[in-house]
Amino acid sequence: MQGKNKLKIILSKKMGFCFGVKKSVNLAKNALKARRDNLYMLGSIINNPQVIEYFTKEGIKIADNLDEVPEKSTVITRAHGISPTMLKQAYRKKLSVVDTTCPYVKKVQKIVRNLREKNYFIVIYGDKKHPEILSLLDTVKSNALVINSISELEKITTKEKICFISQTTKNIYDFYKLSSALLNKAEELRIFNTICKSTVERQKSALELAKEVDVMLVIGGKKSANTTRLAEIGKNQGVKTYHIETKNQIKYKWFHPEDKVGITSGASTPDWVTNEVIDKLKEWYG
Ligand code: SF4
Repeated sequence: MQGKNKLKIILSKKMGFCFGVKKSVNLAKNALKARRDNLYMLGSIINNPQVIEYFTKEGIKIADNLDEVPEKSTVITRAHGISPTMLKQAYRKKLSVVDTTCPYVKKVQKIVRNLREKNYFIVIYGDKKHPEILSLLDTVKSNALVINSISELEKITTKEKICFISQTTKNIYDFYKLSSALLNKAEELRIFNTICKSTVERQKSALELAKEVDVMLVIGGKKSANTTRLAEIGKNQGVKTYHIETKNQIKYKWFHPEDKVGITSGASTPDWVTNEVIDKLKEWYG
C-alpha cells in the first residue's frame, strides 16, 4: 500500500472483447478441445500477448507461415483474415483449416473483390503492414492503394471510378475527413464505411471518457490497431494517456490522489487483464 487517498476510477461504457474476438477465441478453444496434437496458429489470432500465451501454454504452436506447418495438421487462422493465396496453399497441403476470420473482415474482402471486378480503383484507409490489409491486397492482387493520411491522397490522379473503404479498426473521424477529401478525385466515388460497429462504439465511448478525466489508461496489446486508436483519441483530447499491456506497466507517479482516471481497453483485451489493473489502482489508492 503506497497511499491512502482516493482516486476516482471511471470505466468506458464500451470496452473489452468484441463479438469478432469472442468468436475467434471460442473457435480456437473448441479446436483445442477437439484435437490437442498438430494444432497450429497462423500468426496471432488476435493481437493480445496474454491470450496468445494462454493458447501456447495449452499446446497450440505458432507458425509464421505455412512452410512451418507439417502436412495434415490443423491451422487456426487470424481474426484479421487469411489471404486467398494462403488458403489455397493450406488446402494443397491437406491441412484442416479453422477459419476464425471475423465476419466484418470477410464483408470488406467481398466488397473489394466485387468492386475490383467492376474496374473501380480501390483506395483503402489502413495500416500498410496490418494482416487485415495484407489479406485484402492479396484478394485484389495488389491492385489497390493503401493510404494512412490526407497527404497521401496526392498520389491519386483523377479516376473515373473509385471505391473507398477502411480497415475495420481505423479512426472513424479520420475516415469521414478522408471521404470528403476524395470527392474531387473521381467522377464516381463509392464509399463503404467498413469500420466495424464494435470499433466505432469503443472510439465514441473513449472520446466521451477523455472529456471527463485527468488521466486515461488504455489497456491492450501494443500491436493491437484498435487499442492504439483508443490511445490516440485520449492523446488528441490533450489528456495524459498511457497505453499499457498489463498491470506491471503502470507507475504510481502517473497519478495524483485527486485524479479522475478513465479506463478503457481494446477489443482484444480479456477482462481479467483489465481487472488486474483496476485492482492495482485500488490497492494504491482504494
Ligand atoms: S474489432 Fe471489429 S472487425 Fe475486428 S474482430 Fe472485433 S468485431 Fe471483428
